[in-house]
Amino acid sequence: MNSDDVRRLKDDDKRYVWHPFTQMKDWLDTDPVVVERAEGVELIDIDGNRYLDGVSSLWTNVHGHRVEEIDRAVGEQLGKVAHSTLLGLGSVPSIELARELIALAPASLSKVFYSDSGSTAVEVALKMAFQYWQQSGAPQNKKVRFACVKDAYHGDTIGSVSVGGIDLFHSIYKPLLFETVEIPSPFCYRCPFGLERSACAMECAARAERTIARHADELAAVVMEPLVQGAAGMIVHPEGYLARVAAVCASHDVLLILDEVATGFARTGTMFACEQEGVEPDFIALAKGITGGYLPLAATLASERIYEGFLGTYESFRTFFHGHTYTGNALACAAALGNLEAFRSRDVLDRAAHLAGALAAGLEKLAGHAHVGDVRQKGLMAGVELVGDRTTKERFDLSLRLGHRVILEARARGAILRPLGDVIVFMPPLAMSGDEIARLTEIAAESIDAALESL
Ligand SMILES: *Cc1c(COP(=O)(O)O)cnc(C)c1O
Repeated sequence: MNSDDVRRLKDDDKRYVWHPFTQMKDWLDTDPVVVERAEGVELIDIDGNRYLDGVSSLWTNVHGHRVEEIDRAVGEQLGKVAHSTLLGLGSVPSIELARELIALAPASLSKVFYSDSGSTAVEVALKMAFQYWQQSGAPQNKKVRFACVKDAYHGDTIGSVSVGGIDLFHSIYKPLLFETVEIPSPFCYRCPFGLERSACAMECAARAERTIARHADELAAVVMEPLVQGAAGMIVHPEGYLARVAAVCASHDVLLILDEVATGFARTGTMFACEQEGVEPDFIALAKGITGGYLPLAATLASERIYEGFLGTYESFRTFFHGHTYTGNALACAAALGNLEAFRSRDVLDRAAHLAGALAAGLEKLAGHAHVGDVRQKGLMAGVELVGDRTTKERFDLSLRLGHRVILEARARGAILRPLGDVIVFMPPLAMSGDEIARLTEIAAESIDAALESL
């Protein structure tokens, strides 16, 4: 691309595009990276620079970019039809994908409801759970509330923000949100009970059990991210926590909604995170990795019991009154089928364990750093928390924007990362090689030092 075209694109980006989760005043002062194409696990910008895609294009990418199986599936679907509605009509790829998802998912799940993003997948589960109890008669129609975990993130629509636990969003949007029952975050590095994991009996799980049991009569469901709270800063839950929450839900007839938007599709080492604790939820929300990072698609998987609760004559108004215009889009479903094909042909699940080991080895070198407070990892999801003081775990001043400085340094060294505050996130595509993962962590280590020096 010639330099005039490059200049014009960058200027027009600032003139016309409002970027998500971005302080645009800062953006206007930057020289933006504008992606033009990609090869494998590298993004290439309009200036011709190459970057390792260290966060899988916001946690979506699985097999790298321009994947043969997905390209072919989307191309073939384009030759048939790009979109037809699921409101009153079926479509071939949406049926085939639903069949495959149910075959992969925990045995408790038997129906697939499509939407377009992680937020809507959660929103759908919330509304289904709520309506299910409303249709169950007294006293169960009193089950109208949701319990959720502190610092959880379930998306940006009003319902999914309501069940999220990130204070910043809650303070701004509070008048719009519904109230929830809060469970403390099982965050071992900053334990809300001041305990040490090596010596504790999981007070976090005991507290969750008591809270859920106490509110069971009014709780429609518990909503949580299984094993790892991603956006909270890659908080890895202590082993056994999920199973205990699931057990108390089952014994008190509170539905369990698992948000696997980030953890699904082998991110944590198994196809779905909940498999690791043998948990079979009533709902699972899927998005991010579902199309291998190609197209926006989401799915809410529900159990047969929930589905049956909606059956009745039309006049009984048990219909699930929800659906988005592009629900079950054919191109997106075809991309998801291509993604699952690539999972099989590339033995991704087997590779994932090996790659998690490579990531752990790279991160181990960071663990001793004077300003690394904690290194947290589950499979190919990891976070490195930078702190001002390792003994007190004191955070750096917010205005220093250390995490942001680190990712700018990483960019100059050829890697795209995105921090969560001062937690440096690693979410490499499952297609990265061990060498590429080593390069990514080396770049991060150098970038942390360079950012600290710049303070
Ligand atoms: C990203 C994310 C969401 C929201 O997904 P969108 O597609 O951005 O709406 C929901 N839950 C979790 C756990 C996520 O990581």
